[in-house]
Amino acid sequence: MHVPVTIIGAGVGGLTLARVLWVHGIPSVVYEAEPSPTARAQGGMLDIHDYNGQLAIEAAGLADEFRGLVLHGRQAFRVLDRDGNVLFDKADDGTGGRPEALRADLRRMLLDSLPSGTVHWGHKVTGARALGGGRHEVSFADGSTVATGLLVGADGAWSRIRPLLTDAAPEYVGTSFVETYLYDAATRHPATARAVGGGSMVANGPAPDVAINAHRENGDTLHAYIQLTRPLDWFAAIDFTDPAAAATRIAAEFDGWAPELTALITDSDTAPVLRPHHTLPIGHKWERQPGVTLVGDAAHLTAPNGEGANLAMLDGAELAQALAAHPDDTEAALAEYEQAMFTRSAAPFDEALVMESLFGDDIPEQLAELFKDHDQTA
Ligand SMILES: Cc1cc2nc3c(=O)[nH]c(=O)nc-3n(C[C@H](O)[C@H](O)[C@H](O)COP(=O)(O)OP(=O)(O)OC[C@H]3O[C@@H](n4cnc5c(N)ncnc54)[C@H](O)[C@@H]3O)c2cc1C
Repeated sequence: MHVPVTIIGAGVGGLTLARVLWVHGIPSVVYEAEPSPTARAQGGMLDIHDYNGQLAIEAAGLADEFRGLVLHGRQAFRVLDRDGNVLFDKADDGTGGRPEALRADLRRMLLDSLPSGTVHWGHKVTGARALGGGRHEVSFADGSTVATGLLVGADGAWSRIRPLLTDAAPEYVGTSFVETYLYDAATRHPATARAVGGGSMVANGPAPDVAINAHRENGDTLHAYIQLTRPLDWFAAIDFTDPAAAATRIAAEFDGWAPELTALITDSDTAPVLRPHHTLPIGHKWERQPGVTLVGDAAHLTAPNGEGANLAMLDGAELAQALAAHPDDTEAALAEYEQAMFTRSAAPFDEALVMESLFGDDIPEQLAELFKDHDQTA
């Protein structure tokens, strides 16, 4: 096998790959565009599932460290209607299979588990080209290049490595989140804090094209994803450089909703941030190309469905395990990894299917019933 393995992107996928390789004694080098580990806030909480993300953490030998990061109580879940009535409410009794942790803490855990110097910060990849014989040359924004015999694109939705393998490109799915935060919620926004509860909350109206998702993060912070199914040019007409005007415009789509819910838009302590959802074609594949593969969103970006980070971590762990199992046959390792990854990422997710199946003017009630049914059969 060519070492060090060259990994592009220090997200959860790339770092899990680097860590599990290291556990198996295989060196790697990670090139990351961001200038430092703290250059960007890493977003909110991730629930790490026992059937994918937690398997990766086990493979990384970090189960104890992970347990120390879990935010207890955050697996509580409730469904509200737009008037703020609670239709479904499940407490966190500590037995759920989806413990929540902050993405920044997870990333820090993975970074701290790697030999120092593994991640080369401030290395934005601009492109890569095949040199023949399974070797590739990667180009960086500063004009430098690196040649490698084993290249892994872990560089997310807009991967610069993906074009080596496939022409597939992300497309807008028609829905976006607008992200907001409310700090010190119990004292400054008590009604909204009560509505969100101790974990996650989803509030739906009769129309399926808007919803409010929120969760309680560490401390007393509420983090909301305001969900709107609208074309991109609808959002383009909103001036997000004027936070108050943008919040007012978004809140207008929730006319008639309970004020403790719309406060998640109008009372945000941060400027609302637009997060359009993109996807690659579900189930797309590529022909095996020597010396290069992809993990995580670079391989199988989907609209957020609660699985993306979990799958990226599992991809990273399984690729590392395949390389460790075939030290003298990199192509066999890459083929084995890709076959399992393609199968996994082609499978539709229950959550996405359920949401697509809802229609009519009683969506909040349908959703609550679904969760009640699931709760009784789980
Ligand atoms: C709003 C939102 C909410 C989500 N919530 C959840 C959730 O609750 N649970 C869940 O499992 N998933 C969730 N996801 C999906 C999840 O964030 C992704 O699937 C996951 O982060 C993919 O991991 P990754 O390592 O493949 O890519 P990323 O996390 O995107 O990491 C890619 C890394 O590559 C770097 N990079 C990018 N381009 C370059 C370049 N040219 N050169 C060098 N480095 C580069 C980036 O800076 C980044 O560090 C959510 C997504 C969104 C948008």
